[in-house]
Amino acid sequence: MRWFNHVAVAGSVAAVIDPGMVPLAMLGSTSPDWLEWIGGTAAGRKVKHRTITHVLLTWLTAAAFFGLVWDFRGWGLAFTLGAICHWLQDSLTVTGVPVTWWSDRRTTLLGGRMRTGGMGEYVLSGVVVLICGLVVFMRGPDSGFLPFFRNWPALYREGLVDGAEWRARRFEWF
Ligand SMILES: [Zn+2]
Repeated sequence: MRWFNHVAVAGSVAAVIDPGMVPLAMLGSTSPDWLEWIGGTAAGRKVKHRTITHVLLTWLTAAAFFGLVWDFRGWGLAFTLGAICHWLQDSLTVTGVPVTWWSDRRTTLLGGRMRTGGMGEYVLSGVVVLICGLVVFMRGPDSGFLPFFRNWPALYREGLVDGAEWRARRFEWF
């Protein structure tokens, strides 16, 4: 999977859960790939692609640790969420990803028919982003967070902005 799609999916999933998680989830979403590079540099030999940093159990253990033992402002959990999204996305590709450290084969989900860099992963990411965006949008500004969207009609009804301002700015989304 391309990093672009990892970042897009993890970012939008995090936005649904808690927008505060978005930056760390985005960072974590590519971490299984760049941790291979860091680990390889530190250990002095190349980490094989889609091994230890792409094991689902690694990230579930990390999630359990951050969720139950210790975390700093939820950053660890957000980072881990991004990495788990990465795993799920990679599991849709032909190569697949390992579930446990002792897996002797890689697991694929939904038939593992996607090709890295192919149209499929962009379509899938688009769908996920769209659904998450809709959820965030439908929730409205009161019950959740709308970091980028301002609900002008609601502000108008509540008398927070006057008619002229609303008319002038209702099509401003950002
Ligand atoms: Zn990967």
